[in-house]
Amino acid sequence: MKVMLIGLDGACIDLIGRWACDGKLPTFARLMSEGSYGNLESVIPPLTIPAWNCLTTGKNPGKTGIFSFVQKEFGSYEFKVYLERFIKERDVWDVLSAHGKRVFVLNAPNVISAYPVNGNMIAGILCPSENLLTYPRSLRWKLEELNYNRGSGYLISFLAAEDRTLSKTLMEITESNCRVLFHLMEDDWEFGFVVFTELDGAQHKFWENEMLLLRHYRNIDRKLKEILDKLHKQDDEAIVIIASDHGFGPNKRVFLVNEWLARKNLLKLRRKTSAIAFNSFIRAFGEDRILSALGVFMRFSFLTPLYECLLRRAVSTPVKWEKTVAFSYGNWGTIYINLKGREPNGIVEENEYEAMRSSIIKELSKISVKAHRREEIYHGEYVEHAPDVIIEIDENVNSVSGKVGYNREFIRGSLLSGYHSRDNGTFIAYGHGIKEKNRISASIYDVAPTILYIFGVPVPMDVDGRVLREIFRDDIYMERRRITTGIKALKECGRI
Ligand SMILES: [Zn+2]
Repeated sequence: MKVMLIGLDGACIDLIGRWACDGKLPTFARLMSEGSYGNLESVIPPLTIPAWNCLTTGKNPGKTGIFSFVQKEFGSYEFKVYLERFIKERDVWDVLSAHGKRVFVLNAPNVISAYPVNGNMIAGILCPSENLLTYPRSLRWKLEELNYNRGSGYLISFLAAEDRTLSKTLMEITESNCRVLFHLMEDDWEFGFVVFTELDGAQHKFWENEMLLLRHYRNIDRKLKEILDKLHKQDDEAIVIIASDHGFGPNKRVFLVNEWLARKNLLKLRRKTSAIAFNSFIRAFGEDRILSALGVFMRFSFLTPLYECLLRRAVSTPVKWEKTVAFSYGNWGTIYINLKGREPNGIVEENEYEAMRSSIIKELSKISVKAHRREEIYHGEYVEHAPDVIIEIDENVNSVSGKVGYNREFIRGSLLSGYHSRDNGTFIAYGHGIKEKNRISASIYDVAPTILYIFGVPVPMDVDGRVLREIFRDDIYMERRRITTGIKALKECGRI
């Protein structure tokens, strides 16, 4: 039996549904009418990292320890790349691999470097070196032969690129991933995972250009047809699951969290900064030229020597730490309390910590900004590493930025017309034993347990999601339940 999980970064179920109904996305239309589908609710905040980690482990960031692309180091004002820490939680392919299933993983954004699995792995776009890109290592030569373009160059020029050039590049990357996917499908496999990032890039840039957006959805629709055709030649009982890490929406209201903190006298800056001077890594390096070239995707450029240069410059940050109560880094909607004994120059006493968080959340609510204490939304052993307060992305706050110097707390998103949203992500399941024309609701944590269930592999006790039993036809469900009950009975009588 083959199960393929196709990740569509940022795919919106509402757009897919509308265009599928209008006959513009025939493959999606078929998958939905012959399968089960619905909204997939993402994590708070709905960012690519941590969202893919949640999806492929079935666990919340408090358990994975992964809260954003780069994270503030515990007890320091420095950043770290998210995976340089903690013991990695097992992803669905790790569990399946350990149960002897043959797997492949291609372009998963949450895989920074490839590692041994029972099958093949090609790391995602954040992989810092070609040497770390593939498992087995020899697969690298095949990628060269297939002229694999993993898109790392595109990230650097993302904001500067012309619409037409960017649109073309995004499609080329999808094409390139398909070439490699078709090669991996030739090998022996039972579970495969591939991620296409085309829709995420297109929606960030072209959210207000519906024609152009549709072109990208149609491109994905065509590719899905090619994948399905190939898959059904191999196994006509294969199951395909399509999932996104988050949905999308307009980016009309960007909340300037540091501007707000500074106005509330919670954040003190050393000097008057220009409008862009406090933008995450480049906060001490605010040149327009660099911003337009690297922009928001600076968050990815820790892969480049430039990042290191900027990080060094950032040490001369304009923050007066000894007078700062709370601060936020970058564009992730996270607030840290400058806690005494935890941060190098912390000033908030431990017994004031709770009152400070409550006051920040209350003050934010006065301007309709929803925020949460970390323990309200995360649970698990790494909660202490999470930001102290996390801002929610919704209709009022379309995205969050660390920039200051605008003299107001909200601005219109100028470089990105679209931004991630939490509630219109996509889930579609199709294939053997899957119910037809069946509308459901899923959480990002449900995908991994559901896949393990399909394989009859025990679902780890500590996952935060559930098996989406409602997508299976009753006969299959009973068959699976028999297998699971059988395993349980054997365990209970000490046979396994
Ligand atoms: Zn994403």
